[in-house]
Amino acid sequence: MKTALITGITGQDGAYLSQFLLRKGYKVFGVTRRSSSSEIHDTRLRFLGIADRVKLLDGNLVDVSSLVRCLREAEPDEVYNLAAQSFVMASWQQPLLTGQVTGLGAANVLEAIRLEAPKVRFYQASSSEMFGLAEELVQTEKTPFHPRSPYGVSKLFAHWITVNYRESFGLHASNGILFNHESPLRGIEFVTRKVTDGVARIKLGLANELRLGNIDAKRDWGHARDYVRAMWLMLQQDEPDDYVVATGRTTSIRDMCRTAFEYAGLAMDKHLVIDPALFRPAEVDGLLGNAAKARARLGWAPEVGLEEMIREMVDADIKRLSLSNNRA
Ligand code: NDP
Ligand code: GDP
Repeated sequence: MKTALITGITGQDGAYLSQFLLRKGYKVFGVTRRSSSSEIHDTRLRFLGIADRVKLLDGNLVDVSSLVRCLREAEPDEVYNLAAQSFVMASWQQPLLTGQVTGLGAANVLEAIRLEAPKVRFYQASSSEMFGLAEELVQTEKTPFHPRSPYGVSKLFAHWITVNYRESFGLHASNGILFNHESPLRGIEFVTRKVTDGVARIKLGLANELRLGNIDAKRDWGHARDYVRAMWLMLQQDEPDDYVVATGRTTSIRDMCRTAFEYAGLAMDKHLVIDPALFRPAEVDGLLGNAAKARARLGWAPEVGLEEMIREMVDADIKRLSLSNNRA
């Protein structure tokens, strides 16, 4: 039986990855930071019905000693570093925290592994946001990086420190450059989930409008359940490497939003309000990934399309909001 340690286990990907690894027979440990409201900590794990099957350890990405203790306790074969301040918009409000957690935090995990468990296989959650003002229409592992936010800059540091520890110390450390991926467990502040939650509220008569920022931006959206499979595949390879994980299809926020409204039988133009306050100081106008390397070497391909995913998310939000205590 293999053992995995996941930072960010309470997030979207941490929950789906835990479910995936448990199905493969792994023992799963997760690092969680202390919060005053511990009862909401494992909402996503409970949603998937696996909260009592993972072991949660106290730790924080900014405290390397806590990470060393987590490694000692879990004795993992594989470590997945998914923890981050992951919301781009918030990274302009909290650029230093984002740098400390999303950037230096990865170095803390690598340093703990180097000192405590150098044989561990390590996965770093890199991001398509590193391409930012993309220099190529279709992005691959070879496309130059030009991050556009403190989040993207921090992810770039984490990406390169992972490459550096691989080259300097021979760690089995891989970067998954994942394009946007969503699900009913996506944080409500991200645009797909904000849209499906908003559409569900309008459908149920709880709201009348949905306010968005730049709806001309385009993203390459996949489903988180497909993307965590790619993470695992990377760590099963003899050699560590970096891989783009994407669907190869890009869609505007406007068209994604229309899909959600139409599925709910609502007219988007009646409810959508463009709010200039939601525009970003610097925008990533378009992302489109080419996952040919992951397809060829890992045998990975996405299974869920955008429309199917949006329908799943709208249904889940309608169901959640229909329970009266979830309407706040
Ligand atoms: P989430 O925002 O859902 O989860 C982030 C996780 O990090 C949460 O478990 C959070 O814990 C934890 N965390 C935050 N700060 C700390 C800290 N200081 N110490 C320990 N844990 C901390 O992200 P996703 O699941 O969507 O994404 C997973 C990773 O993949 C992230 O690194 C993200 O940046 C990256 N990524 C995501 C993409 C996407 O489209 N989803 C695309 C590309 C990369 P808590 O519950 O306490 O807040
Ligand atoms: P990101 O790609 O990691 O920044 O994921 P988001 O889901 O947060 O944003 C995707 C795109 O949607 C960006 O280009 C945003 O500018 C755009 N967008 C437009 N309106 C909104 C909004 O109200 N909230 C969010 N989060 N993004 C929005």
